[in-house]
Amino acid sequence: MRLNKKNILPSLKILITSGPTREFIDPVRFISNASTGTLGYEIAEEAKQRNHKVILFSGPTHLKPLKNIKVISFDTALQLKKEVDKYFTWADCIICAAAVGDFRPKIRFSHKIKKEKGLKKLILIKNPDILKGLGKRKGKKILVGFALETENLIINAKKKLKEKNLDFIVVNMLSLRHLPFGNKRVSFVIVDKEKTEEFKDIEKSVLARIILDRVEKLCYSQDLKEGG
Ligand code: C5P
Repeated sequence: MRLNKKNILPSLKILITSGPTREFIDPVRFISNASTGTLGYEIAEEAKQRNHKVILFSGPTHLKPLKNIKVISFDTALQLKKEVDKYFTWADCIICAAAVGDFRPKIRFSHKIKKEKGLKKLILIKNPDILKGLGKRKGKKILVGFALETENLIINAKKKLKEKNLDFIVVNMLSLRHLPFGNKRVSFVIVDKEKTEEFKDIEKSVLARIILDRVEKLCYSQDLKEGG
């Protein structure tokens, strides 16, 4: 990303991962999670409105398809990794809002498992941590992660920020009575190397704006430091 000669801020190239993964046991059964992809879609829409170039990687969702945004669909964590890797070089910023399953079945049966036959055990193996992998080769790209924690919120977020080499991390303040999935309003904390900022009960669309304000500030100030 370079400032142009007239000092007009250029558009950024932004990748956004969103929604749940599905890890198949057989052709019809899978392990997944309750993510709806709402926040990822909000971020993609806001980024597009700000004239950035956006690619949205979307897990299975019931959300209305977005207009004028390139969407790449995925089911599994391995598919998502393959797609993100393809576009990594292109991007100025990667926002990883997808709820990637940490495990997948070791065997994916090609035929539907018969009820009568049953499945005696299900062996799960670890999925790659996509975001951590991106953090290792991040360079000057801006990298944003998310976390859903039930305890030791800030301590764990700071650990993840460092381990995954992120510019900042958005931590959902989980209330076990009001899980954030699909809700329009959320409470969250943004943690970066310097500070921790808390936001209570705001619309996901407002959170999308806050995230993009931060991303723009980081991208543009980096470019100014380099002398454009
Ligand atoms: O470590 P944890 O799963 O809490 O980290 C969440 C962050 O890491 C999210 O930004 C998520 O998109 C990303 N992630 C990933 N690959 C995984 C697990 C999480 O990219 N296998």
